Amino acid sequence: VILDGYTENPGDLSWEGFEKIGDLTVYDRTSLTDWQEITDRIKDAQAVLTNKTPLPREVINSCPKLEYIGVLATGYNVVDIQAAKERGIVVCNIPTYGTAAVGQFAIAMLLEICHHIGHHDQAVREGRWESNPDWCFWDYPLIELSGKTMGVIGFGRIGQETGRIAKALGMRVIANDEYPNDAGREIAEYVSREELFCRADVISLHCPLFPSTEGLVNKESIAKMKDGVIILNTSRGPLIVENDLAEALNSGKVYAAGLDVVSVEPIRGDNPLLTAKNCIITPHIAWAPRESRQRLMNIAVENLEQFVKG
Ligand code: NAD
Repeated sequence: VILDGYTENPGDLSWEGFEKIGDLTVYDRTSLTDWQEITDRIKDAQAVLTNKTPLPREVINSCPKLEYIGVLATGYNVVDIQAAKERGIVVCNIPTYGTAAVGQFAIAMLLEICHHIGHHDQAVREGRWESNPDWCFWDYPLIELSGKTMGVIGFGRIGQETGRIAKALGMRVIANDEYPNDAGREIAEYVSREELFCRADVISLHCPLFPSTEGLVNKESIAKMKDGVIILNTSRGPLIVENDLAEALNSGKVYAAGLDVVSVEPIRGDNPLLTAKNCIITPHIAWAPRESRQRLMNIAVENLEQFVKG
């Protein structure tokens, strides 16, 4: 059972690879939070594939035939791993499919923040040719990245890809990771989290969501950052205490933020970041170029095939 696919149109891709392995049912992507409804969809399934639909303990324990959970994503926090383990259910995520896409997206957000291209395009279409430096460059300052310092927290696959592009733009790259490695040392100088907060002009988050990383951007850490820092998050929303970031954006302590993820998705109407100054928010799409979705599909089919073969 594919829990959150596209029944009408898997886009430019197809579910054919899965159909060759066994009987396939595909449900539409919805914001399912009703455990009973999820259970009803998968209670007879041996294998379930999910992207964002949560599989908590109560759902897992109500599916006696379940042997395999494929997470169509890198981050697997939608699955209660401990509950799956207790039942001997194999859980497979797909760590590599979106590395280039997400790194590119983090930098795309940064470039938008530095150039306000969307704003200027809109102004031109509305008949305003705002090239007068007297005022528009104060409200929408252009920022040159060359020579500035990019601090990456979580210097794994995506973090390093982001660092590589930042370096190509002439930025100095510093990184914080629990497990520094040689590939990372070629791109960045490893530093402590504290030092990174003090030195970075741009901070990009790429570590997974763990108890040790939850809320790592908060009032206290923001106070240690440079005035006018830019914060990017394409990893997981709860890495940031959103009220604290919104306050810092509104006061100008943080110049801007580019967020592809928020603590509750889809975003709630009362999320303070929706009204915060200089905050770009996208709906968790960094992973989704056609090229990476094709890669995701191929790896998901291959993983399931391997599982079925034992
Ligand atoms: P990865 O495992 O290659 O890298 C994560 C890095 O974080 C590792 O090097 C790890 O050592 C480090 N880390 C772990 N705990 C840390 C800590 N406490 N402090 C600092 N570093 C720590 O993973 P990846 O492929 O680079 O993916 C990174 C994250 O990106 C994923 O966890 C996922 O949540 C997110 N992601 C988002 C999208 C999207 O569409 N926005 C798509 C794919 C992945």
